[in-house]
Amino acid sequence: MPELPEVEVVKKSLSKTISDLTIKNIEIRNKYLRYKINEKLLKKMVKSKVLSISRRSKYIFIKLNNNNTIMIHLGMTGKIIIVDANKNKYKTSFHYKLNDNNSRHDHLILKFDKKITLIYNDVRKFGFIKILKTAKVQSSSHIIHLGPEPLSKNFCFKYFREKIKRRKIYLKDLLMNQKFIAGLGNIYVNEVIFLSKINPKTKVNNICHKKIHVLINNIKKVLKKAIIEGGSSIQNFNNTKGKKGNFQQFFNVYGREGKSCTRPNCIGVIKRIRMSNRSTFFCNICQK
Ligand SMILES: [Zn+2]
Repeated sequence: MPELPEVEVVKKSLSKTISDLTIKNIEIRNKYLRYKINEKLLKKMVKSKVLSISRRSKYIFIKLNNNNTIMIHLGMTGKIIIVDANKNKYKTSFHYKLNDNNSRHDHLILKFDKKITLIYNDVRKFGFIKILKTAKVQSSSHIIHLGPEPLSKNFCFKYFREKIKRRKIYLKDLLMNQKFIAGLGNIYVNEVIFLSKINPKTKVNNICHKKIHVLINNIKKVLKKAIIEGGSSIQNFNNTKGKKGNFQQFFNVYGREGKSCTRPNCIGVIKRIRMSNRSTFFCNICQK
């Protein structure tokens, strides 16, 4: 499931490939995504030009020159694929393999000038595509309640300390809460808590000031690393060869149940428990 770094890399890929291009044609093969695509409204975007691409949390915004913005959420299995004039296909992020792509799940196809095509593919169809008035993007129901961006200056010690005062929820649940911090999901939350040597079931009102600093630093570090390494692992649109390799190797705890802890000199084993109905991985020795 794509989280903030994966979506950030999509944003960067799209910025490089479709900025300043004009939409020539829109083909909707299946409008029944998480929300039904407003076919009539979407088709009105033909002939408009892409001004910029941005991201907030896990949402991508394609701002057009007609005061509208195309909002995309990838859900669980959404992928954006770019096809160039020579029919070469490029993936836009690192949460999927291009070879896994089955065109049966290509739901939306945007054709731009310069013979560039954007395909939205989504096996499970939990993603969605909406058209918003650009002026109303920030006040839309998806965005207005979101907490700060983890890589922004607003996500800082003072903010964290104020938000956890007198709260007795578990650390993992706090970090998964999009009103507290936007865009973090299960994979990176597990990783951050491991790196911070804290048990995921620690009540947040028991976290000391030093550990708050450690958590904030690790959140920023893990996300930045994933954006850089994940971004470099995909083949660039300009055909420079990207580094190959399995990005999953990067994770210390996620998906490693029963394996030895990766921390030097720790004899612990990675355990898996359920928290808020999601798999939670942690080392039974070094995460206190
Ligand atoms: Zn350990």
